[in-house]
Amino acid sequence: MKIRAQFAMVFNLDKCIGCHTCSVTCKNVWSNRKGIEYAWFNNVESKPGIGYPKQWENQEKWKGGWEKVNGKLELKAGGRLKKIVQIFANPNMPEIDDYYEPFTYDYARLQNAPLSEATPTARPVSQITGQKMDKITWGPNWEDDLAGEFAARSQDANFANMQKEMYKQFENTFHLYLPRICNHCINPACVASCPSGAMYKREEDGIVLADQDRCRGWRMCISGCPYKKVFFNWESSKAEKCIGCYPRVESGLPTVCSESCVGRIRYNGIILYDADKLLDAASTDNEQDLYKAHLDLFVDPYDPAIIAQALKDGVPQTWIDAAQKSPIYKMAVEWKIAFPLHPEFRTLPMIWYVPPLSPVQSQIDQRKLPTEADGVIPKAEAMRLPVQYLANLLTAGKTEYITGALNRLLAMRSYMRSIHVEGKPDVGPL
Ligand code: SF4
Ligand code: SF4
Repeated sequence: MKIRAQFAMVFNLDKCIGCHTCSVTCKNVWSNRKGIEYAWFNNVESKPGIGYPKQWENQEKWKGGWEKVNGKLELKAGGRLKKIVQIFANPNMPEIDDYYEPFTYDYARLQNAPLSEATPTARPVSQITGQKMDKITWGPNWEDDLAGEFAARSQDANFANMQKEMYKQFENTFHLYLPRICNHCINPACVASCPSGAMYKREEDGIVLADQDRCRGWRMCISGCPYKKVFFNWESSKAEKCIGCYPRVESGLPTVCSESCVGRIRYNGIILYDADKLLDAASTDNEQDLYKAHLDLFVDPYDPAIIAQALKDGVPQTWIDAAQKSPIYKMAVEWKIAFPLHPEFRTLPMIWYVPPLSPVQSQIDQRKLPTEADGVIPKAEAMRLPVQYLANLLTAGKTEYITGALNRLLAMRSYMRSIHVEGKPDVGPL
């Protein structure tokens, strides 16, 4: 057994309101300069949706980094020489249109426009070419933005009938917000695919960084990362990515995205794992239980034998204390209510997600589902958000883990309501 400490976070999807504060604060602090205007180290996607960059989950699209071998997704990696040869055959990287053309507004137009009956509009101007843009055709939150457009248009009386019809359809639709950052994977594909040795994983806390002096701009990390969370700075010709706010983490502070999160959905912490199990977990076959293999890596930070081994292996006492205080081990391993994003890539991602319950709660509030007052705890199967969809996102397709987590969350919610609403069970609006 060899114990290592790993930086990790849990995002509770039930609490995310899609306000994008996390993205904006991260951008202002870490990627607010020429060359990476288009890059969002933190972004929040509407799911189901094509995401940012477009179709990042479709690994067959990014053939430069991943390929299917005997039905199993494999990182195209070999010896260093092989990687260098591949650079010349690496056309399948996201392009600017897969991200979006970043723009600002021509505010001068507001001040200089001649008098007219209609209010002048600030027109978009490309931040890359400086040219005026006729229209914006796509952006990282396009699905969200389109819904906004529908709401605005539906104020018009002409849309009344269409509105009625569409609302009927909307009642049956579902979506969730999925905030995404680099997963600071335990088995990072960006590190494995870098021919220059510029991508590296810090020994002390597992944060994955891009060494700006060593980076030669090969961009293999961009095709290699299955989450598409490395960005190319076209001004410096270097790879850049989320740095896990390491200067803050080192001083005991939360990351910028966590501190500014309006929904308070983000929990920061340290988790301990057994590095000797790494090879097994990373090479798990797709036919096996990939989520379970991921979970088996982690060790109990309260176990005296584990603590003794961790100290022997050089894990500092401060990180052991942090692992005990942090909710990550309990939420991910003990209670099994938080899951890694797409564990089938086998990079062992370390951002964990609590699946959302909200649609089921709205059904309970409308008295469409039995409540605890009826002597029944509503079951996760009644959700409008398909459990299979969540399973494909978080447990490599295994629904039983998601159902188990949702039922635990429902039971906890019922219990907390029963003890917190004037000491009586809360049965929702009567
Ligand atoms: Fe590397 Fe991508 Fe994993 Fe981040 S999410 S550590 S960039 S492979
Ligand atoms: Fe969601 Fe928090 Fe980001 Fe708002 S700030 S979008 S609540 S993760």
